[in-house]
Amino acid sequence: MDNSNPGKDISLEDIKSKFPLASKKNDNHFSEFSVAGVQFGPNKCPIFAGPNMVESEELIKDVAINIKKRGASFLRGGAFKPLTFPYRSEKYNETRERGIEWMQLASSYADIPIITEIMEERYIPLVSQASDILQIGTRNMQNYPLLTACAKTKKPIMLKRGFGCSLRDWLGAAEYILVEGNERVILCERGIVAPHTHRSSSRFLLDLQVVPAAQEVTHLPIVTDPSHACFWRPWVPSLAKACVAVGSNGLMMEVHPKPKEAAVDPLQAIDYETFGSLVIQLKEIGKACNIDVGN
Ligand code: PEP
Ligand code: MN
Repeated sequence: MDNSNPGKDISLEDIKSKFPLASKKNDNHFSEFSVAGVQFGPNKCPIFAGPNMVESEELIKDVAINIKKRGASFLRGGAFKPLTFPYRSEKYNETRERGIEWMQLASSYADIPIITEIMEERYIPLVSQASDILQIGTRNMQNYPLLTACAKTKKPIMLKRGFGCSLRDWLGAAEYILVEGNERVILCERGIVAPHTHRSSSRFLLDLQVVPAAQEVTHLPIVTDPSHACFWRPWVPSLAKACVAVGSNGLMMEVHPKPKEAAVDPLQAIDYETFGSLVIQLKEIGKACNIDVGN
């Protein structure tokens, strides 16, 4: 750690005064907490799985049942989505309030907790009464008023890393949540911008290096999301295995019954069968590394 050159990298002064709450107090300091009965902390790797978009009640119920029986700990799915372009069609459309209701129905139907994205302060009451974890997306990582307002709900928050942000920026954002007295903060690496991503459709590069780097300075759990990083289904299983091996404290993956027909990001979701056999392998890797993977 360099103390002479504050800026992009983390200095000792940052740890003392910029993000004292996010920083570890000693080498063995790691947060441990539970969300809806799922444990977060060192040696734990819960799995978050589900489609990009909560497309319909039928779809999300089917996904909930199928991922739970294959080892997922949380059902994921977006109802309020930061879609890159403003144009909509019947299929390419946020399901918003209806989507939140379908997530809740699927959660009780399959008895699995849920995580969904919150984008605007005015939807906090709706989303926080429904979701076990509030997800802040990459594009909102530095939306500080939103972070503060979400923190005040005291709901657990998963803070996805801004795709152009340093670990220093990310911990600064986490501090905005912690300073409100909300201690259940989960970080999520989801790919960063890089000049070479090895496929034109891959918009980001999974930064596996940030996992040990973050664990050196922060006690917060670090989840990794290979799906949003690589945007390419054939690469998801090998990256997911690397995510467990590198010591991720959770794993998020997009799973859809018919990935090619997914309303959003059809290139990245994996199907049930791939997910099921992957989880078996991930559990084996976890065993070798003393990490409990999945439910
Ligand atoms: C998502 O998880 O569906 C999502 C939109 O992720 P990100 O914010 O990382 O792009
Ligand atoms: Mn997505």
